[in-house]
Amino acid sequence: YAQPAAPSHPGQHSGALDVQAVRRDFPILAERVNGKPLIWLDNAATTHKPQSVIDRISYFYQHENSNIHRAAHELAARATDAYEAARDKVARFIGAGSSSEIIFVRGATEAINLVANTWGQQNIGAGDEIVVSQLEHHANIVPWQLLAQRVGAVIRVIPVDDSGQILLDEYRKLLNARTKLVAITQVSNALGTITPVETIVALAHAAGARVLVDGAQSVSHLRVNVRALDADFFVFSGHKVFAPTGIGVVYGKAALLEQMPPWQGGGNMIADVTFERTQYQPAPNKFEAGTGNIADAVGLGAAIDYVERIGLERIAHYEHDLLAYATHGLQRVPGLRLIGTAQHKASVLSFVLPGYRTEEIGAALNREGIAVRSGHHCAQPILRRFGLEATVRPSLAFYNTCEEVDALVAVVNRLAHGRR
Ligand code: PLP
Repeated sequence: YAQPAAPSHPGQHSGALDVQAVRRDFPILAERVNGKPLIWLDNAATTHKPQSVIDRISYFYQHENSNIHRAAHELAARATDAYEAARDKVARFIGAGSSSEIIFVRGATEAINLVANTWGQQNIGAGDEIVVSQLEHHANIVPWQLLAQRVGAVIRVIPVDDSGQILLDEYRKLLNARTKLVAITQVSNALGTITPVETIVALAHAAGARVLVDGAQSVSHLRVNVRALDADFFVFSGHKVFAPTGIGVVYGKAALLEQMPPWQGGGNMIADVTFERTQYQPAPNKFEAGTGNIADAVGLGAAIDYVERIGLERIAHYEHDLLAYATHGLQRVPGLRLIGTAQHKASVLSFVLPGYRTEEIGAALNREGIAVRSGHHCAQPILRRFGLEATVRPSLAFYNTCEEVDALVAVVNRLAHGRR
């Protein structure tokens, strides 16, 4: 498969981002909703797909479609090459030492469940402690609760301050000889807080614990290097980084993956099977039982190519300014309460407006073609920390513009002035 021609926004990794050129790469951004141009501010829920990703998946089904690894024919070779090339791209994208440290799964949720059911089941026992933070998405809470209930372990929770940032001193107090795992998000999906993951990992390791970093909200906004972080496990979902749904990643340090038992059993993950015993493939195949989501893994590879062509540094810089602009705009809306005001934030704005239920605000925005999430964002504990059950959550990507933010602020302003 040949790469698409030079991107429409040249100047690799240098200079400002040409947002209009970027927008032309995403066909769905030309949609109209309720007679208005679509304004997509629900990027923390899922992101849109550039034409190059859509084309790559289509090319796969037209020219490469086959199951992988199992046949001597040409299309099996093409599909296997495409799938393994995607794995290599993921490894480079997050700075893994080797592609064999990259396991394809359905998404971040399945990724965390995999780690809980393999490494967790093997290494966490009665009385052991699992540390999570108050910021976690339910996907980084419930799998650990299920494990804890099964083995008799205890969940401990790192609190946050009033800005929504981790209280490191409280975290230090939680660590002890019984701490086996710290499971922490790098960016909060509900508030946008960027957590001090490097420090969290270093402190956990000093206490003898392993760390799983939930990168579902970080990989599309920040340059991630799992080796620099020294994360033991790192997980993310493809669909939040401009790739298709149904594909995600577990990164695990090679030495850990080698020791871990498989989770699901079946084809692809075995070296030899008799009715008496089965020998497994080494990682990553040991953790990829059955036919995986081959086409969408290939699509993830194309999404990574796309993001790398623009450059994450350039994306982060653009989004930083856009977030500041949006924060400033919303803060001037009378009565609006912005939740999550940490100094280090990415992409997400969460707010409530007195006199309105969050669904009413979401519906008013939808009438203007503006998509935001309203609700608990699968992160009930952190909203309750702020005395809330729901917020309105606009979340940005690098294809959003200041004009779109103005449109958001205008509707919210109108509501704040009592004009429904
Ligand atoms: N972790 C975080 C921080 C998230 O924001 C999400 C999704 O919103 C997940 C995990 C779960 O991702 P998925 O639903 O793609 O499995």
